[in-house]
Amino acid sequence: MRIKIKGEIRNEFVRKIEELSEQNLLGCYQCGKCSAGCPSAPFMDLLPNQVIRLAQLGRKEEVLNCKTIWLCASCFACSVRCPKGIDLAKVMESARQIVLRQNIDQIEPLKIPKEEVVELPQIALVSNFRKLTA
Ligand code: SF4
Ligand code: SF4
Repeated sequence: MRIKIKGEIRNEFVRKIEELSEQNLLGCYQCGKCSAGCPSAPFMDLLPNQVIRLAQLGRKEEVLNCKTIWLCASCFACSVRCPKGIDLAKVMESARQIVLRQNIDQIEPLKIPKEEVVELPQIALVSNFRKLTA
């Protein structure tokens, strides 16, 4: 028996994430291997597999307002482990891009204490500005 799904399967948010990440969100079958191998998972408010599940459902606000997308270190462990070949690191990046395109910065460079600027590795500062500011 064919099950009919009412309404759109992919809303505008789902299509945007898929366009930016070039990934098929609906390919994820929630095995959880991405979350099991994610080194940042203990610090995240949503596990990586929960982010992709919410993204599949088009739940834009929950995805864009979670801390997880900013705590993702882009290490690609999830992408390598996914049995469906989904590059979840790219999905995280596309969610960050959507927020940054609204000109919403995640850090304010001028508010970083001078002592920390002196102590922190320059490469870490530059990569953080690239990742977290519009
Ligand atoms: S590993 Fe792949 S298929 Fe499994 S939950 Fe993560 S994204 Fe989905
Ligand atoms: S790319 Fe991000 S979500 Fe994926 S394993 Fe690394 S830190 Fe976790």
